[in-house]
Amino acid sequence: MKHLLDCNLQELKEIVAAAGQPSFRAKQIFKWLCGGVGFDGMTDLPLAFRKRLAEEYTAQPLAIHEKFVSKDGSAKILYKLTDGNLIEGVYMPHFYGNTLCVSTQVGCRMGCAFCASGIGGLVRNLTAGEIAAQVVAVNAFLGGTVSERKISNLVLMGSGEPLDNYENVTKFLGLITASDGLNISMRSISLSTCGLAENIRRLADDGYGVTLSLSLHATTDEMRRELMPIASVYPMHEVIGAVKYYFQKTGRRVIYEYALIKGKNMTHFDCKRLAELTRGYPCHVNLIRLNYVKEKGLSGCTEAEAERFLQTLVGMNVSATIRRSFGNDVGGACGQLRRSYIEKR
Ligand code: SAH
Repeated sequence: MKHLLDCNLQELKEIVAAAGQPSFRAKQIFKWLCGGVGFDGMTDLPLAFRKRLAEEYTAQPLAIHEKFVSKDGSAKILYKLTDGNLIEGVYMPHFYGNTLCVSTQVGCRMGCAFCASGIGGLVRNLTAGEIAAQVVAVNAFLGGTVSERKISNLVLMGSGEPLDNYENVTKFLGLITASDGLNISMRSISLSTCGLAENIRRLADDGYGVTLSLSLHATTDEMRRELMPIASVYPMHEVIGAVKYYFQKTGRRVIYEYALIKGKNMTHFDCKRLAELTRGYPCHVNLIRLNYVKEKGLSGCTEAEAERFLQTLVGMNVSATIRRSFGNDVGGACGQLRRSYIEKR
């Protein structure tokens, strides 16, 4: 059964018209859906109309299956989809606004050497509504409404490769930024990609002004191929070309994510090459201390090593920071929570 949150306002208007209802009903429904309210709570809609809708559609809010709250205020969240699949997310309170990390696929087919999300391969794409439902669920859980949001920033950094699910992810961007819904600003959304160059260009051409984060993780094609199979399809010059194109089209500064991995990408030459790769256009390097994934066996670095790498980069005039880590006491990075849950069962 199709979920109504998979419909944008235009599609809702068509559904409403087909049922012989006035078109303002579409906005009413959209508001309720974005507030995490199912048919039972849509009190300003005639009961008969709700019953008729329920014959063809569902409006069931996404269930938070379990949550693990950290001492630092962040929380890891496990959601259960209607087909029983589990996906996960992370809630991070910030002084400038609360951020939610959302998943875009169940599993992932990119197979990066350090990442837990890809271990079981891709199970399926999430629909636009299923991605939006994560934001709706956490906002509602925190006591937020459509007019008083508790989530203001999103990062598409949960499991899945967003640009491998282009149609659903871009439809989701439309739903979540809609002014009649949660109205989250495009500028407050970061989309992280392993570097599907064609779709980076497409995203720029389609006019989505999200912040683009590129998972770079290496400074040579050889090392990048070792860490990220997708690098065999899109060599670095193509990916960086697409990133520069994205900047030219959108005017948005691009973020490079660089997970520091012992024995792989932490030499002085890596710093020098990073400095060269990032010269001449606005971008920022986000250094990440690798989360250890036992199935993968790659090791991260100490805080002091990360700090040294950072200082070398900064000394080369690269804009860089070390990414703040959340919730270390409640399980690892995205992908790991779902895996450990599946294993336990
Ligand atoms: N598929 C997208 C987004 C998901 S992952 C992408 O590849 O960018 C979000 C970020 O976490 C990516 O930069 C990813 O490379 C990184 N990541 C994955 N596994 C990690 C781990 N074990 N430790 C630290 N970062 C990791």
